Amino acid sequence: MENTIRMLQSRFQERGLQGRVVSVRHLQDLRDEIEGHHAQGLLNEEFYKEALSFFLFQDPENLPHAASLIVVAVPQPQTKVSFAYNGNTQTLILPPTYRGFRETTQQVQSLLTEWLAPDGYHVASARLPRKLLAVRSGLAEYGRNNIAYIPGMGSFFQPTVFFSDLPCPQDTWHKSRMMDRCLDCHVCLTKCPTGAITAERFLLRAERCLVFHNERSADHPFPDWIDPTVHHCLVGCMLCQQFCPEDKDFLNWFEGNETFAHEETALLLGGTSLNQLPTLTQEKLKRLDLLDYLGVLPRNLGVFFKTSGQVRFMP
Ligand code: SF4
Ligand code: SF4
Repeated sequence: MENTIRMLQSRFQERGLQGRVVSVRHLQDLRDEIEGHHAQGLLNEEFYKEALSFFLFQDPENLPHAASLIVVAVPQPQTKVSFAYNGNTQTLILPPTYRGFRETTQQVQSLLTEWLAPDGYHVASARLPRKLLAVRSGLAEYGRNNIAYIPGMGSFFQPTVFFSDLPCPQDTWHKSRMMDRCLDCHVCLTKCPTGAITAERFLLRAERCLVFHNERSADHPFPDWIDPTVHHCLVGCMLCQQFCPEDKDFLNWFEGNETFAHEETALLLGGTSLNQLPTLTQEKLKRLDLLDYLGVLPRNLGVFFKTSGQVRFMP
């Protein structure tokens, strides 16, 4: 099995990926860390319920004898998305990890399946805290902004996580720690427009982060305390990464530039359901992996075009 783990490491390297294998016993450590933050009152209740209820800290049904967790980081660029509306064009950013999220995860799962099959091992998908596993496995370190960073990738990567029955009796399990570079740097703290990064504690005040507010369901308008001029992404936020010295080599890395014409933008602002959208518009949204975010577009796009964000068409 040690040979298999070594083989995996060399396959990762050949493909420009980075990855770690840790024992499945750390499933409980991941759960304890998140629930510990909650028990200490460090996680806002709404954030805890909405954002963290996605995780499943148990062996998958299709791999009941899982022995390890595999985390693989895939380099990812930003994407530009332009929307024309009433003679005004807004070019917005989709941060790394949104475009092609599912496809990337499936590609890594296929590769792992292919690489492990000759040794008799299997892979199953996992709904686990990907960034936390990347850090605790030693693959990544946290920045002061609680974003995960990997040497050679900065924060421009998508962490993918899987269960496997590949045994991993010996592994390393690191403390959650902040990069040494952050000790003398407070750039992200000063650039964060919502006060989500504070000097008082390391844990992000996630309930103040733009990402929480622009990803959450459409029945939550943006709170009044968020200055409307700070929005710059269709979903997500890049402000604390745009000024981070760890990311300086990747900041200009953009791939893809989808454009939505006035008529398409009007339909998206109006909350048109997917099957009522023109086929070309549907295809653009699929390419961007934005189908899950269709419902939030009236609100998120509305701030750029000063529309109400209210849905006018049938959901
Ligand atoms: S901006 Fe500075 S403090 Fe913030 S994550 Fe980057 S290096 Fe760390
Ligand atoms: S993602 Fe944006 S809102 Fe969240 S901590 Fe970074 S700068 Fe602040």
